[in-house]
Amino acid sequence: MIHKRNLKGMPKGIGMTSQGTRDRLVQRLRDNGIQNEKVLKAIAMTPRHEFVDEALSSRAYEDTALPIGLSQTISQPWVVARMTEALLECGALDKVLEVGTGSGYQAAILAALVPKVFTVERIEELLKQARRRFHKLGLHHVYTRYADGHLGWSSQAPFDGIVVTAAAMAIPQELLEQLRIGGVIVAPVEKYGMQRLLAVRRTEDSFEEKDLGGVVFVPMLSGLS
Ligand code: SAH
Repeated sequence: MIHKRNLKGMPKGIGMTSQGTRDRLVQRLRDNGIQNEKVLKAIAMTPRHEFVDEALSSRAYEDTALPIGLSQTISQPWVVARMTEALLECGALDKVLEVGTGSGYQAAILAALVPKVFTVERIEELLKQARRRFHKLGLHHVYTRYADGHLGWSSQAPFDGIVVTAAAMAIPQELLEQLRIGGVIVAPVEKYGMQRLLAVRRTEDSFEEKDLGGVVFVPMLSGLS
């Protein structure tokens, strides 16, 4: 017997954006080396399809970056998971900063794990959309700011952790300064024409750098748009 699939008329929970679809993404991340159960749980419970245009929602649980307009992308789930995992390695986090809100997805994942999430975006239109999503999902502990993230968010510093979701030539000095001692900043940095994901821990008197591998991010730009 052939079952006709009427996606629009499908009851909640068995469509392309269902829990089952999300769980398959989590399994894929697990297979690809993501080990932190808290991070995997955050991915399992966060509706990524809410962070992309409706026309792309059937692809929301593929492990791939997707366009979100204005030449920007929502990061690939594996990259979001890896960055979050690296951030959590510095212990319990109370307050984190994200540079590059974009769709708001990475901030939502952080919000599942951290009491206070501060996120900065330089494209006003994207920030407006992200704010609507945070409101819709009840993420009232995500604080947003329309600003150039090179400067961080000094009035809220120091942060226990910082994630940068756009690639710069080097990690901005202001961001390093807004990290508490023992805190980690995870950021993609251009090196020899490629991008490397770096995790840099601030110690009492220096910064210790770890290379987490090759990545592809949109560039970190200056000023507002
Ligand atoms: N974290 C996002 C990824 C978005 S892509 C997500 O989960 O969807 C990177 C974002 O960084 C883009 O929205 C881009 O506009 C933003 N960005 C680039 N340079 C920036 C800067 N200097 N300050 C703040 N945001 C910046």
